[in-house]
This record gives sequence, C-alpha cells and structure tokens, in this order.
Amino acid sequence: MKKTAAKLLGTRFDSMPINTVDYWMTPSTKDITRNQVLTAINKAEYSDKSTVHIYIHVPFCANECRFCFMPRNTLANSKHFLKDYSHLVIKQLDLLLKNSPVENKQITSIAIGGGSPDLLGESIGPILDYLTNLPGFDTNTELTSELALNTTKKAFIDALTSYGTTKISFGVQTFIPKIRRSLRLFSKILEHISRVVEFVDGRIPVVAGDLLTGLPGQTIGMALNDLETLKTIDGVNAISSYLLIPAASPELVADMYSGVIPDCTSELHKAYTRVNSLMSLTSDGWIRRGASSFYNPKKIDPKVLEKIQGNEAIAGGRYESFVLGIGPNAVSHFPGVRFENTGDFSKWADSVLNNVVPLDLNRTALKHLKDFAFWAFPLRHQGLSVEEYEELKTSGSISSDQIKNFEDFIAENLIELTNGAYKPTPLGEVMSGHLVSGLKKRDEREEVISYINDGLEKGKRLCEQKSTG
Ligand code: SF4
Repeated sequence: MKKTAAKLLGTRFDSMPINTVDYWMTPSTKDITRNQVLTAINKAEYSDKSTVHIYIHVPFCANECRFCFMPRNTLANSKHFLKDYSHLVIKQLDLLLKNSPVENKQITSIAIGGGSPDLLGESIGPILDYLTNLPGFDTNTELTSELALNTTKKAFIDALTSYGTTKISFGVQTFIPKIRRSLRLFSKILEHISRVVEFVDGRIPVVAGDLLTGLPGQTIGMALNDLETLKTIDGVNAISSYLLIPAASPELVADMYSGVIPDCTSELHKAYTRVNSLMSLTSDGWIRRGASSFYNPKKIDPKVLEKIQGNEAIAGGRYESFVLGIGPNAVSHFPGVRFENTGDFSKWADSVLNNVVPLDLNRTALKHLKDFAFWAFPLRHQGLSVEEYEELKTSGSISSDQIKNFEDFIAENLIELTNGAYKPTPLGEVMSGHLVSGLKKRDEREEVISYINDGLEKGKRLCEQKSTG
C-alpha cells in the first residue's frame, strides 16, 4: 500500500510554510529598459484606493545572527559609509518622490528597518526631519523603527522620540541561553531590554519585541516561557511571533546539515509550538495587527492602536498602494511596476549622488500584482472584505484556479467569513504562509519557491565546502 505523508493538524499540509518575507516577488521582465521603468514609475496611477508607504533600509549591523537573511554590511565594512548614509537616503527619497505621482500625497506609514538602524545614532535626525516635513506626513502617519538592542544608544532613542515615533521593535528571538549561543545571538538580553526601555522612558507609545518559533532545540515550553518573560517586562507592550524559515539563510542550512547546530524540531512539533504561541497571545486579549504582531490593548492608547498598520511583511498589501523602498536592495512597488534598488552599496551611492534612480534592472517587472489584496489578505488583520473579493473576481484579476483554492481553504476551515470579511481561522493563522502561497498565481508562487530552493542549495554547497575545506 502506498504510504501517505502525515498531515499537520488535519490540514492538507505535511510541513510548515516555507515562505519568506519575499511574498511580493514576481518574475522580472526580460530586456527591460531604464526608460520604460522610469516612465512606469512616473505614470503609475494614483486612485482613491491608493496609500503611500515608505521603507528605509539601513544595511549595517554589528551582529552576526546565524539565521540572518537581511542584506547588510558588517560594522567593520560600513564605518566609512555610515556618516554619509543619512544624506544619501534623503537624496534618494527626494529623487523618487519627485519622479513619482505621490510627491504631495498623504503618507500612511514609514518604516525604518535593517540591519540595525540604531547604528546611525543621532544621524537618524536629518532623515526624520526630512520625512516629518514632507507635505504628506501628519499625525496619522505611522512612524516605526527597528533597532538592535545591544548597539542602541540613548542619542538614537532621543532622536526617535523628538520626531514622534509611533513604535520601535527589536529582535529578542529567544531568552534560552543555549539556543542564543547556537544562533550566535548576543548575551545579556534582559539587561539590554531594560537599558533600552529606560532610554525610551515611556516616550514611544509602542515597544515591541520579536520572538521566533521553530528554533533548533526549542520545546513548546521554552517558546511559551519566552512569551511570558517578554509579556511581563515593564515597558514592552507588543510582540511579534515569527516562524523561523531556515531556507532563507544558507549559512543556517549549512550548519544544520553539518550538525554544527541541531536541526529544527519536527514539523508537527513546530506546528504545535505555533498553535500554542499564538493562542497564548490571543487568549490574553492581545490584538493582532498584520501578519504575526500582537499588541496589548491595556497598555496602548486606542488612538495609537488605530494608527498601527501592521503591514511589516507586505507594506501596502494592495495593488493600488505605493511603496517607496530606499537604500541598497530595497524594493518598491507602484501600480503597474515593481523595482529593486541595486544591492551593491557603492553603485547605489554613486547613482544617488548623480541623481540617477539606482535600479537593478534584473530584478524589475513592468507589472505588479493585480491580485495583491487577494493573496496577501491572510497577512492583514483587516482580512479581505466580501466587496473586495467580488470586485477582484468580476474584474478578472484572479483566476479560476485561485478562486478554487480560496473556496477549498474555506471548506477546510482555514479561512472563514466573519463580520463581512474573509480572515484566516486560528488554524489558518498557523498555516498563513501556505495560504498566501496557495492563493497566488502559479508563476509568482514558483518564483518564491525557486528563491527558497536556491537558498537550500546554497546551504548544501556551503556545507560541502566547509567539510572539504
Ligand atoms: S541583528 Fe538583525 S540584521 Fe543584524 S545580524 Fe541579527 S538578524 Fe541580521
């Protein structure tokens, strides 16, 4: 008799999702020209459904977390770039805004990420000054920044607070010392959190820590303990719980293959850990905003909560949104075009200094995802309204294949209709990466899968090189 693979938690899946944050990847357009892209940027249509989001990538970091997949420069490589970075960011923003239809439009959210943006220290000030003086910035604009706990200095926090930052977030991942060491995470995590919370001193309304599940050697008890520890720290009022995606980091894959660190626990164990972690947050009344982020409503002003977009993984999450990605490797998408900045720091800086949009034409598409709101809805706390779904269907933006998968997910209790919107069920939240993947068009799904497989292959090769080297 043919052996069937065990299905996780009664779903159709036999492994946890392998999606990375590259949810919005789409195959590049072949033989594309600069002029075509610049025209598409300039002519992108702003409609009453459009929102504007700015993402600023700070590609420097002093840490070397084993699972890191962020394009970044180590501190040693970046010292001479750091001092000019603010100037370059402002210049690129100016260039992109002036060449796009959103120069004076309302800005919904601004996210500063990395890397470790705190390495900019007080030189974040000029960037914040520029952003908060844009005509589209007002008190409704959400302004967030990531930071690394062990390198953050008070001057950075002071600069953030003086420009009305809504939220800071930092990676904790786990408090378990053994796992922290195996992932090359810095020590004295609790002391670093206290130090940063003290710097903040209640002046930033949302302080969020990120945790991971699916870590090598992590038990369910450890994951729950991490959550309890973080929840009870005074001054922390939001938590993001992510699933570790080993394939996104070839180095982590190589170390798992070679046994340098233990492989992740079984898929079933990973699934149970996520179920328990998400339940621990929601049963305490924490509110989900976005893909995997939860906020403590008892400790956050409702007006601030309203401002939180929770769009960290997908930015606008709609075809009509304008996302301006600033910095090397950052991705932008406007209706009808998706473009990436070159990842080579020197090339990026030279282009910006010469007033040239720093495009990587190999990673650019003269289309964008008409069905974005459809497949990204499991990551948005607002879900997908019935009207939006009907409109996507009647406009032909989604295919019959996509509609079938959607209906199957409803029948399988992964998606439900609640208060006029489709949302993932609790089980669907555990499997949300699978929902996103299953709702995409085939070529876009395959683009992400090939990116992931590429990471796994690189990891295997790295492992072989290490064993023969
Ligand atoms: S702190 Fe963040 S950017 Fe730096 S190595 Fe770790 S995961 Fe990567």
